[in-house]
Amino acid sequence: MALLEVDDLTVQFYTEDGVVRAVDGFSYEIERGETFAIVGESGAGKSVASLSLLRLIERPGEIVDGEIRFRGRDVLGFSQDELRQFRGNDAAIAFQNPEAMLDPVYTVGEQIVETMRAHDIATGEAARDRAISLLERVDIADPESAYTDYPHELSGGMAQRAVIATALSCDPDLLILDEPTTGLDVTIQAQLLETLTDLAETFDTAIQLVTHDLGVVADCCDRALVMYAGRAVERAPVEELFYDPSHPYTAGLLASIPRIGDGRDRLPAVPGSPPDLVQVPTGCRFHPRCPYAEDVCATRDPKLVELETGNPVPDGRRPDHASACHEHTGNLEGGLDYEVRIVDDRGNDSTDSSGQDGAVSDGLDGAESDGQTDDETAPDDPETGGDHGERSR
Ligand code: SF4
Repeated sequence: MALLEVDDLTVQFYTEDGVVRAVDGFSYEIERGETFAIVGESGAGKSVASLSLLRLIERPGEIVDGEIRFRGRDVLGFSQDELRQFRGNDAAIAFQNPEAMLDPVYTVGEQIVETMRAHDIATGEAARDRAISLLERVDIADPESAYTDYPHELSGGMAQRAVIATALSCDPDLLILDEPTTGLDVTIQAQLLETLTDLAETFDTAIQLVTHDLGVVADCCDRALVMYAGRAVERAPVEELFYDPSHPYTAGLLASIPRIGDGRDRLPAVPGSPPDLVQVPTGCRFHPRCPYAEDVCATRDPKLVELETGNPVPDGRRPDHASACHEHTGNLEGGLDYEVRIVDDRGNDSTDSSGQDGAVSDGLDGAESDGQTDDETAPDDPETGGDHGERSR
């Protein structure tokens, strides 16, 4: 049994413009000690999915369908007492804006101690010692001083670390981090990601990382799920996602990652913008932005299928690699013709000319989906065809 199992989760918001289905039939699972990423653009539903885990969706939002099980227990069926115990002791969340999570009128130490007291973890001197130890564990240079600091006295990176220390104070098995590195400079980002990886190993804590940044995913995650317009479009171990992206949206996101030594004048971007979730496109939700779209894409909704079998992912089964594109059920006539090039840190292309998996010898940090387009095979529409990487399988 996985630590966390989410099955067919569906979350709606009732707005003046209509019903927004922010998360639509979303399923995944996280094992103990695993670092799992949910990736997508703003508005994809990543944060709503995370808030749902702790039942933090408020009106006009509502979880309308699905199941959330934590160690086999039905989270959506918890009483208020069970829910209070679950939040903090079993699962904790840290948002991207630490200033909003820290109360400006209490010191950092008081806030960590209060969290532990409220969850019957520790009080008095024991709580103080544990708080300082946690601040040290998240690599705050002077934890004793940070303990007595007010939030406004901390830098952005330190405040984010203090929030993570607070979230860890009740020793949860699952830590949900919503865009933890947004707004931090790249050096601090790298340090924080190293700290998170270290924490996950030391405490055997599972991490659900919500991010729009695939670079962050490459640095510290085991598996990832790519989300588009409320749905999962691809899920895979991180190395496979980078070396062999199987959905055009994932390939587009990878092609847009900047890298050292990048010779491109402009970074390619996924053309267009995410759909209005009140009126989602028919068929494949990505079809208005997809350079490989065919008629079938506008009428038939592609299911998430296992690449190995081409069959829908069964309930409760963890697929190695799954994707929601008609290519993988044999319904796309033209196919996906981008290719993935593996480029090392010096800019050398080390992709084996056979294009076969396993020919890649460089580390994950060197992976990228190249932004070049094959003129012979690119779609005619320059609006959608010019910005995607090549693919050949
Ligand atoms: S189903 Fe069609 S529109 Fe959707 S990603 Fe695949 S090719 Fe593109």
